[in-house]
Amino acid sequence: MTAPVRLRVRVDGIVQGVGFRPFVYTVATERGISGFVGNDAAGVFLEIEGGTEALAGFLADLRGRAPVLAQVDRIDTERLAPTGEAGFRIVASTHGTGRAALISPDTTTCAECLAELRNPWDRRFGYPFVNCVNCGPRFTIVTDVPYDRAATTMAAFEMCLDCAAEYADPTDRRFHAEPVCCPSCGPTVSYAERDGRPEPGDPIGRAVRRLREGAVLAVKGLGGYHLAVVADCEPAVATLRRRKQREEKPFAVLVADLAAARGLVEVPAAAVPVLAGTARPVVLLPAGPVP
Ligand SMILES: [Zn+2]
Ligand SMILES: [Zn+2]
Repeated sequence: MTAPVRLRVRVDGIVQGVGFRPFVYTVATERGISGFVGNDAAGVFLEIEGGTEALAGFLADLRGRAPVLAQVDRIDTERLAPTGEAGFRIVASTHGTGRAALISPDTTTCAECLAELRNPWDRRFGYPFVNCVNCGPRFTIVTDVPYDRAATTMAAFEMCLDCAAEYADPTDRRFHAEPVCCPSCGPTVSYAERDGRPEPGDPIGRAVRRLREGAVLAVKGLGGYHLAVVADCEPAVATLRRRKQREEKPFAVLVADLAAARGLVEVPAAAVPVLAGTARPVVLLPAGPVP
């Protein structure tokens, strides 16, 4: 083996809140590289030490194998004297003055989290705030950079032992996922009528019942409120139009999946990756034949 080399590395781009540190940890461990990684106000900083080939492979991986939500804009390296350090660590974030770190937008719940949401044996069964390092809220909850739980609106929710164990486990997809939570430690859903007082009972069940009765619901989601009605309930849509003073402009229609969308509108091939992607934007599509 060649003599060890030590590098200081800076990575800029969307590299916080996207599982970048756990990713770096995994790749460094795979390649037998020692050193550390952390977040600061501008991005991610690392020091890495190992053979030249291992380091070159590692630097290529930083771009080539980056997590799905990451966007690597720039990698800078600087040679340091080797220290003989053993093992690889995720270190505490440092603060500093230039707040330049980019934060990922909120992204839609990933397939693995949806599977947990629907699994009656999972402890997050039916829990609407399920998230992991590959999905969930980011921009909406961040209050400062570097992006750590303490700099998010989740700081008020102390992790339970189960969540803390996932957060600390490098093999878990919630390793360093800052908004990690569950029904025992995270935010909860409530249902209120006009007086604003939360009512007892199943809040989702009540909301569904009221929608079916033709009510207009304000649903507080990530980043704001959605006003919701059952889309094919004409009196409810008319009430919403009157209240919004929106006579003609179409409303966005929420559907469960692509198959449901195809029952209502034409879905050209180019629209599929957009509709099914991590951003899940509102997409304008040609109306289908009227049934
Ligand atoms: Zn997820
Ligand atoms: Zn928990």
